[in-house]
Amino acid sequence: MSAQHPEPFPSRLLFAQALAIVRQVAAEQRLPVERVAVARAAGYVLAEDVIAGMPLPSFDNSAMDGFALRAADSGAGVVLQLAGEQFAGLAQDLRVQAGQCVRITTGAPLPAGADAVVMKENVRVDGDRVHLREVVPTGRNVRHAGEDVRVGDVLLRAGTRITAAGASLAAAVGVAELPVARKPTVAVFTTGDELRPPGQPLGPGQIHDSNRSLLMNLLRAEGLEPVAWPILPDDPQQVRALLRDAGQAFDVIFTCGGVSAGEKDHLTAILAELGRIHFWKVRMKPGMPLLFGQIGKAQMLGLPGNPVAVLASLINFGRELLRGLQGGVQGVPAMHARLSSPIQKEHDRREFQRGKLDFGADGVLRVAPHPATGSHRLRGAADSDCLIVLPEGPLAWPEGQVVEVVRY
Ligand code: AMP
Ligand code: MG
Repeated sequence: MSAQHPEPFPSRLLFAQALAIVRQVAAEQRLPVERVAVARAAGYVLAEDVIAGMPLPSFDNSAMDGFALRAADSGAGVVLQLAGEQFAGLAQDLRVQAGQCVRITTGAPLPAGADAVVMKENVRVDGDRVHLREVVPTGRNVRHAGEDVRVGDVLLRAGTRITAAGASLAAAVGVAELPVARKPTVAVFTTGDELRPPGQPLGPGQIHDSNRSLLMNLLRAEGLEPVAWPILPDDPQQVRALLRDAGQAFDVIFTCGGVSAGEKDHLTAILAELGRIHFWKVRMKPGMPLLFGQIGKAQMLGLPGNPVAVLASLINFGRELLRGLQGGVQGVPAMHARLSSPIQKEHDRREFQRGKLDFGADGVLRVAPHPATGSHRLRGAADSDCLIVLPEGPLAWPEGQVVEVVRY
C-alpha cells in the first residue's frame, strides 16, 4: 500500500470526513424496530414520536388532603357544612352547594361546584362543621385538567434516547410499550501475541490485556451486552476464521490492535479480503490507524492497540456508530470548559488529550490537562474523566481558553 499503489478506499481522512462516513453507513444500516415495556425502555432510542392520546391531569383534582369548597364562600371565621367525602380513585358524583365543603384527598377529582381546596392543616373540624381561618383564593390547591399535557402534544421525539422520566410520561398517558431500535449486538476482539489475561503470569515481553476491560466497560455503560472472545494471536488464519463467523452473528465488531503498519498487523488486509473497507486512518491523535469497514452483516471498527487510542476512538467513533445504527439523532450539545493550564500541540492534527474536570473559584467548569500525553499512558486516562478536544489548526492553547470536553 505504497504511494505508487493508492489504496482503493479513503485513507488519512480528516476527523470530520471519517465521522461523516460513520454516520452515513450507520444511517444506511438502521437496526429493526421492536417494542419494549415502558418499565425497561430507558436507554433505548425511540423509533416513533409519542403523541398524547389523553390530557394530564385527565380531570381537575386536588393537590392536597383537605376540603374542597367554593372560593367565593371562604373567609376568616367562616363555617362551612361538611357535605361528604371524595377520596382518590372513587367516583362519588358529589356537588358542593353554597356554604358547603367536601373532605378530599390528594389526587381525588374535584367535586362539581368546588373551585378551591383548603389544606386540612388550615382548618378546624368540629363534627360536620369546618371552620376556616382565611380566604381561600379560586384555584388554590387545584390541579387543572390538561395543565401538564394536552391531547396531541408530542411528548417524546423519535431518535432521542429514552430516559426514566420520559418512559414514565409515556406510561402516564397510558402507553404500555414503546417502539425502539433494537440494541446492536456487539463482539469484542483483542489481538496480539504479547497479551495475557489479567490474573495470569507474564512471560518475557508479555503484557496484560487491559483494552478488553476498557472496551467491555465502556460498551456496557452504553447499555449494551458485548460478547468478548479469548485473546486472538497475530495469526491471520485464526483472525480470518473468527471475524468471518462474527460477521454473520453480530451487528458490530470491535477489534483492537493489529491495524497499524507493523509486520503483525493483519487486520486491514483481512477486512479487505473478507468484506470491504469504508476507510483506514484518520488524521487524529491518538487513534490514527483507525479502520472502519463491513464484514458479513457486521460493521467493524478496528481500533488501534494503544489503550488511550482505544478510549479516544471508541468515544468518538464507536459511540457514534452505535447511536447511528439505532437511529439516534445528533445534536447533544457539546460540553465546554476552561483550560486550567496551557496546552502546546505538536501536530496540527485533531488531538484528544485527557483532562480532569472541576470548578474554578467562580463556579465555572474548568479542565486540567493531564501531563502524560502518550497514547500508552493508561494511568493518565484513569486519573482523568474527559477527553479535551483540540481541533485541527492552532498549536497553542492558552490557559483560560474554552475547549470542548467529552466525558467518559
Ligand atoms: P498494535 O497496534 O497491535 O501494534 O498495538 C499497539 C500497542 O498497543 C502495542 O504496544 C500493544 O502491545 C498494545 N496493545 C494492543 N492490544 C492491547 C490490549 N488488548 N491491551 C493492552 N495493550 C494492548
Ligand atoms: Mg498487535
